[in-house]
Amino acid sequence: MTKHVYTFGGDRNEGSAKMRNLLGGKGCNLAEMAGLEIPVPPGFTVTTEVCTLYIQAGQTLPEDVKAEALEALRWLEGNRGRKLGDVENPLLLSVRSGARVSMPGMMDTVLNLGLNDETVEGLSRASNNPRFAYDSYRRFIMMYSDVVLGVHKDLFEHEIEALKARTGKKQDTEISALEWKDLTVVFKAIVQRELGRPFPQDPIEQLFGGICAVFDSWETDRAKIYRRLNRIPDDWGTAVNVQTMVFGNMGDDCGTGVAFTRDPGTGEPYFYGEYLINAQGEDVVAGVRTPQPITRAQAEGTGHTSLEEAMPGAFNELLATCNRLERHFTDMQDLEFTIERGKLFMLQTRIGKRTALASIRIAIDLVDEGMIDSNTALTRIDADSLTQLLAPIFDPKEKAAFKKAGKLMTKGLNAGPGAATGRIALSAVDAEELAKTGPVVLCRIETSPEDLAGMVAANGILTARGGMTSHAAVVARGMGKPCVCGASAINIDIKSGTVTVGDITLRAGIDHISIDGSTGEVFAGALSPFPSEVNQVLVDKVLQPKDSDLFQRYSKIITWSNAVRTMKVRTNADTPHDAAVARTFGAEGIGLCRTEHMFFEGERIIAFREFILAKDLEGRKAAMVKLLPIQRADFEGIFEAMDGLPVTVRLLDPPLHEFVPHDEAGQSEMAKVMGITYEEVQNRVRKLHEFNPMMGHRGCRLGITYPELIRMQMRAISEAAINVGMRGIKALPEVMVPLIGTVKELSYTKKEMLDELALVNAEHGSDFSCPIGTMIEIPRAAITADKVAQEAEFFSFGTNDLTQMGFGYSRDDSGTFLPEYVAKKILDEDPFQSLDQEGIGELVRIAAEKGRATRPTIKLGVCGEHGGDPRSVKFFQKVGLNYVSCSPYRVPVAILAAAQAVLEQK
Ligand code: ADP
Ligand code: MG
Ligand code: MG
Repeated sequence: MTKHVYTFGGDRNEGSAKMRNLLGGKGCNLAEMAGLEIPVPPGFTVTTEVCTLYIQAGQTLPEDVKAEALEALRWLEGNRGRKLGDVENPLLLSVRSGARVSMPGMMDTVLNLGLNDETVEGLSRASNNPRFAYDSYRRFIMMYSDVVLGVHKDLFEHEIEALKARTGKKQDTEISALEWKDLTVVFKAIVQRELGRPFPQDPIEQLFGGICAVFDSWETDRAKIYRRLNRIPDDWGTAVNVQTMVFGNMGDDCGTGVAFTRDPGTGEPYFYGEYLINAQGEDVVAGVRTPQPITRAQAEGTGHTSLEEAMPGAFNELLATCNRLERHFTDMQDLEFTIERGKLFMLQTRIGKRTALASIRIAIDLVDEGMIDSNTALTRIDADSLTQLLAPIFDPKEKAAFKKAGKLMTKGLNAGPGAATGRIALSAVDAEELAKTGPVVLCRIETSPEDLAGMVAANGILTARGGMTSHAAVVARGMGKPCVCGASAINIDIKSGTVTVGDITLRAGIDHISIDGSTGEVFAGALSPFPSEVNQVLVDKVLQPKDSDLFQRYSKIITWSNAVRTMKVRTNADTPHDAAVARTFGAEGIGLCRTEHMFFEGERIIAFREFILAKDLEGRKAAMVKLLPIQRADFEGIFEAMDGLPVTVRLLDPPLHEFVPHDEAGQSEMAKVMGITYEEVQNRVRKLHEFNPMMGHRGCRLGITYPELIRMQMRAISEAAINVGMRGIKALPEVMVPLIGTVKELSYTKKEMLDELALVNAEHGSDFSCPIGTMIEIPRAAITADKVAQEAEFFSFGTNDLTQMGFGYSRDDSGTFLPEYVAKKILDEDPFQSLDQEGIGELVRIAAEKGRATRPTIKLGVCGEHGGDPRSVKFFQKVGLNYVSCSPYRVPVAILAAAQAVLEQK
């Protein structure tokens, strides 16, 4: 029989950190801590497998699971010497969710379960503390009603606010036992009114209600959105942890808090955290009360009392425990703890979420501290997050000017680094709407999981309440979004749609606000972004490497990656500038140099339109003669920028109609410039019309109908290479033919190219040559790659078109149905973003294998958007490609992903 319930703590510790998939992250680490003899309140975990069983059974708990849970409860009661529902000395429980990976704010916890009208009296007597007992009971009714019964917590919070207004009390801690007691009566009446039935008094009913609610929350929309964003499979399920309560709300020798072994924002190696005296866990994360700093260093100058000062004994034990856990798990830990009457209990430990900045700093520091090696460090960094290091920051000078002008509104907590400017949105819905027309900053009193979609749409997040571990902060850091939290001076007025500090009032939907998530500053108006330190060193060269710690760390990661990876990383660049930028980021060549802009920009378009309008070959040749010197100069610029590195040039690819105007004004203007009639232009444009241009007269088909076109391109490339060669520059062009479907298309085109090359060499007395290859972007070419390789000296997989043609989805039109496909799980995700490994990937694999069978030395690369997608990069490593190519700013991502791909294969 399958075991569904595992105990932890006490004298029966059945789990360990190795059982994450079964017990969830929270459950397995509770067991691991208990195994290390760290004080953990004992309890039991209902496995993630039960979540699936529960959903399959139509949201009901199988009887055998119930029986097992009751058996574990009996053990727990024996262990604690208290019984659930006991009128004299009741056992109280928390019911907590915990999936394999942490899903912040997704699953709600119920505390103080087991209280009812009778047991609350028992708790009051046993603890000799009626205030504590009724504080716990009101919390329980509110949480249980909200999470399990679906009565919104606002209804209860409203009553607390009303009580405070009546009595003039500001803090929860000022409210007396009797007042809480009276409030529980009001709370129960709310439940009766809302549901037409009383608040459940039976502790066993409460327990199973709580367990089911956790499983139910796996199926909520917000949990589903989070899973989709983070690619968490639905069938992983969540576990449920049922745990003995420990109380941080029994008085001033009690408290609760969260801690990080290092700063999650910057990665600096400081013990760091927040706590509240006389409180229960949810007070810290919910942002209801503003938490206090844990360490003396953190508290310095803030007027707050640190835990270190308030409870030195418990603090020292906490510090020692946290350090021990960090060494045990060899990574930064995010911990939750409660102090009951001076005694420390650990309630959770996990690998802490962190910003990109922090993840890099921590990985490097752990190597320096000897905890891990450099290869492990590389696996600790999310390759995608490297782009954050290149993201813009605010110009310090402009910031200073804004300050002088009195536009610094306030300073909150620097919860998620990076700079964001945008119009103000006061709700998630508004944020989504406004984001359609420009950048948005979401401004909320505090955020909750319901704001998720708005947070995704916003460029930055600003909250008036909540600490570094509030929902907004945790989620923003996870998304890599700039975030300022707890900016309490800000007054957000939803009704009038304004954000006010002092005499500055900004209007939602109209005015701009700027937040600096690295410093916590909030500015009225739009600050313009400024390049990051990495860019300042590499691209703008205005900062010395030695003056930037950030750059030095970045460069260490790149250096370590370079030592490991076997795939080369190239870039997609069409201009000398892009090529030069990518080169500074470490690009080892150009994998895709599109040539269409060489036909479009400035004077070029006139000559090319002459070509398009020409009546015969002579006319077309004459137009090409005009384009030749211009394109030759273009190539010279690119070859110069990439001196010594390969440059893969793609012959003209788009259909001709993209180069002519389609409106009347444009056409008569064109007629004037060309000295012909409007009708002539109109006629030609009409002839160029295609029903499905993406599958029409484009790619190699252009060169086959107009060989003079590709001959001109071949001549421009080779003469440019010869010219720069005379200036000591090593040009290494590789010319590729787009959209090949059969080998004969390539052999025809290649012959024209080689004939032209022979002419060039004869004229210049040179012996220049370069590899000629093809894109593999049509399924037929992939399947017949053994034949194509007879002619092609290299393949470059154009995975955008290969996906388009392989699926038969037009990329430009797929927006109408792809989101639905993903939502309905027809597809796991958009195949244009991350390669469909099963189908399109199989085409790549087959082509690579067949290509190599014909020509063992064939060079294989990828030039689609997928070349910068870490998961796709790992796939390309598996099928043995020689390089990936991506946009300049993704080159660092691809470099790290290529290294990770090697490490994963080991
Ligand atoms: P989340 O996943 O949202 O962090 P948790 O299950 O960790 O939810 O619970 C939130 C908080 O509730 C914890 O940080 C802790 O302070 C409090 N809590 C949970 N279980 C207990 C318990 N057994 N005793 C005391 N407090 C608890
Ligand atoms: Mg929660
Ligand atoms: Mg927690």
